[in-house]
Amino acid sequence: MRNISIEIKMIFGAIFFALLLVGLERYEFSQNLVAQFLESKKAKNKLLIDTISPVIGLNISLGLESANQEYLTKIVKQNPDLLRFDLTGADGQMLYHHTQGGLIASTPHIDGIYHAVESIKDPVTGEKIATVSLFFDHHEYQVMLQKNQYVSIKIFAIALIILAGFIFYIRKEFTFLKKLSENVLQYDPYSNHFALTKTDRKDEVGIIHNAIVGMVENINTFTVMLDEINKSLALKVEERTKELQDANLKLQELSTTDPLTQLPNRRHLENHLQKIWELAKRNSVNISIIMSDIDHFKQVNDIYGHIIGDFVLKDVARIIQSSIKRSTDFIARYGGEEFIIVLYDTDLMGTEELGRTIQNNLKAANGFEYHDVKLKPVTMSFGIGSIVPNEMSEYHNLIKLADRALYQAKESGRDRIVSVGN
Ligand code: GH3
Ligand code: MG
Ligand code: MG
Repeated sequence: MRNISIEIKMIFGAIFFALLLVGLERYEFSQNLVAQFLESKKAKNKLLIDTISPVIGLNISLGLESANQEYLTKIVKQNPDLLRFDLTGADGQMLYHHTQGGLIASTPHIDGIYHAVESIKDPVTGEKIATVSLFFDHHEYQVMLQKNQYVSIKIFAIALIILAGFIFYIRKEFTFLKKLSENVLQYDPYSNHFALTKTDRKDEVGIIHNAIVGMVENINTFTVMLDEINKSLALKVEERTKELQDANLKLQELSTTDPLTQLPNRRHLENHLQKIWELAKRNSVNISIIMSDIDHFKQVNDIYGHIIGDFVLKDVARIIQSSIKRSTDFIARYGGEEFIIVLYDTDLMGTEELGRTIQNNLKAANGFEYHDVKLKPVTMSFGIGSIVPNEMSEYHNLIKLADRALYQAKESGRDRIVSVGN
């Protein structure tokens, strides 16, 4: 049954139902036949008894006993199915008796078919003068009934066996599909408990099974592919994020660094000041600023050109940077040839000392030299401001203070340090 196509299974089913129908039809038909047989037998028996009763009555009333005997013997001979014939007089005396064949005691007494009784009346007086009792052979009926029952039972038994086989087959098929459905429902492509074995069945159930298994195999393949794609995607995202972070860092650095001197620019300075201003406020310590400006720098440009001017700016930046010692000291290029040094927790005296150090280092350089061009020594003016920040002050005040001091330094002859404290 496993590799038989659905058409053949349907033909089997149709045969089964046809057989069942034929069986039922045959049973009904034979039941009708038996009933008709019984009816005709009953009618024939009645006809016989109705025919002989008046003749017997007439013979008895006329006292023609020998004629009666002769008539009844003839009747018995003409009816071979008559097993027994009893004619009993009104006084109980047996007037005629005949038996042939054996009477089966156990056979059922079906009224009118097996046994028929009738009272004989005197045709003149109407008095009961005898009773006739007839027993008929209904052997054919018994055989017919038994045969019919046997054939019916046989047909139903075959139908029942086919039905049982059919139910068993359907159950087996459903068990197969149920197991497959359970496996599919519990299937998880990650833990993959599903047994991916195809069946060699060629019928519809086999085709469905293999189609589902094929689908699950595809899901598996695509899950693995998707996993790999996801992994490489995650890796790419990670790489790109890192690149982006680096680029951002670079951009931030670029936006806060002066490209010529590589020192922090003015924006960076303001961010720094904002931060340490709050810190100094909390700790009540000084913040000092040195605002420095190269003296007569315009002349450098005018005499030696902007390129040499740029070299000077870079060298001055280097000298200032090398003059500071603390990690908390912060230098920025504030504008053209102006540099600002921010000192955390440093009082006016300490700040002036740093100013002097820068001044001395510049002097020690004794003029820069570029490509055989010897420059005059470069001097700077320094304006120093120092504040202990409080709620009333802000860092712009400190810049203004240093700016004013620088102005004074310029005004009073340049190459000097002027301090303003609070
Ligand atoms: P003072 O002593 O009063 O400060 O005079 P000064 O000439 O230094 O000041 P001034 O403000 O008159 O001139 C500043 C000059 O600095 C003008 C400008 O050409 C020059 N300068 C500003 N930035 C740069 C730069 O990035 N490179 C070069 N080469 N020169 C610059
Ligand atoms: Mg200047
Ligand atoms: Mg200037």
